[in-house]
Amino acid sequence: MKASRHTIAQLPKIELHCHLDGSLSLQMIRLLAEKAGIALPDSDEALRQKVTAPEMSESLTDYLAPFDFVLPMLQTAEALTLAAYDLIRQAQADAIRYIEVRFAPTLHTAGGLTLIQVVQAVTRGLAEGEADFQVKANALLCGMRHESLDTVMSVVELFASGDLDHVAGFDLAGGEADGFLASFAPVLEKVKALQIPLTLHAGECGCAQNVLAAVQAGATRIGHGVAIKDCPDSWQALIDQKITLEMAPTSNIQTKAIDQQQNYPFKVLFDAGVRVTINTDNRTVSATTLNAEYAKIADWYDLSESDFRQIGRYAYEASFMTDEQRAALAAEFE
Ligand SMILES: [Zn+2]
Repeated sequence: MKASRHTIAQLPKIELHCHLDGSLSLQMIRLLAEKAGIALPDSDEALRQKVTAPEMSESLTDYLAPFDFVLPMLQTAEALTLAAYDLIRQAQADAIRYIEVRFAPTLHTAGGLTLIQVVQAVTRGLAEGEADFQVKANALLCGMRHESLDTVMSVVELFASGDLDHVAGFDLAGGEADGFLASFAPVLEKVKALQIPLTLHAGECGCAQNVLAAVQAGATRIGHGVAIKDCPDSWQALIDQKITLEMAPTSNIQTKAIDQQQNYPFKVLFDAGVRVTINTDNRTVSATTLNAEYAKIADWYDLSESDFRQIGRYAYEASFMTDEQRAALAAEFE
């Protein structure tokens, strides 16, 4: 039986792929702008236009423009803590039990914070959110693909610097060129040496080959990975290795990763046995929530409640949560 919207909204969920800077509520943007002395449009409609990507972006680059608008507001420890807490509050409304929140520490040092101070400020907000809401959370640290090798390496080295509380893994994000992994080989070797759980944005706007290279490099999860639809010969290998795709329907169409809904490969991959999951990518930039993304998938395809529970189980199994967090959620997801 096709799952109803009501059932889906209530389902306990896990979100693996959500960017902090793309997911600030309008209310939080107003607060942070005031603290930073940045003027904003009076009407929410005008503000929304500045922080939301057009429904049909010309490209991934176009989609990324709203991030530049909020970044100047995220340059103090207080702002980062508030933003992270605000995201946990939003997660609660989606019935999320566990979320991984990703961000690039190097984008938040313009106000004088060190990388470790940035990370601590965000994870403090996550921990405060955990205490107040029924949501568990960890951070994923991103290197940006347009950055130099040394800069990205400085983020990886944070993992070696001591125990980072509430930090679960590493990712490479930003514009995607075909074959990008080759230039990050030393970073990926270091990630492997430090045994850092790895997810990589790949096959979002680049080619299927990027997905396979990311798996080869040790990623157990792929950010988006939708390009793999062009390479059905490789699906069995993804299934065998339990690789999980972090898909985000609204974002994937906005960025032109997929040209139209009919070609979205979620169901065909799910039916084939590939581990697919549902994510927002960016709540504000894509003007969405996790419940809205689930509802979209439910509208597009004939999926039952047990299918949605299976998708939740894929997210649970692929998450980088601690043993303690996993044990706490086992009853709902195993
Ligand atoms: Zn992303």
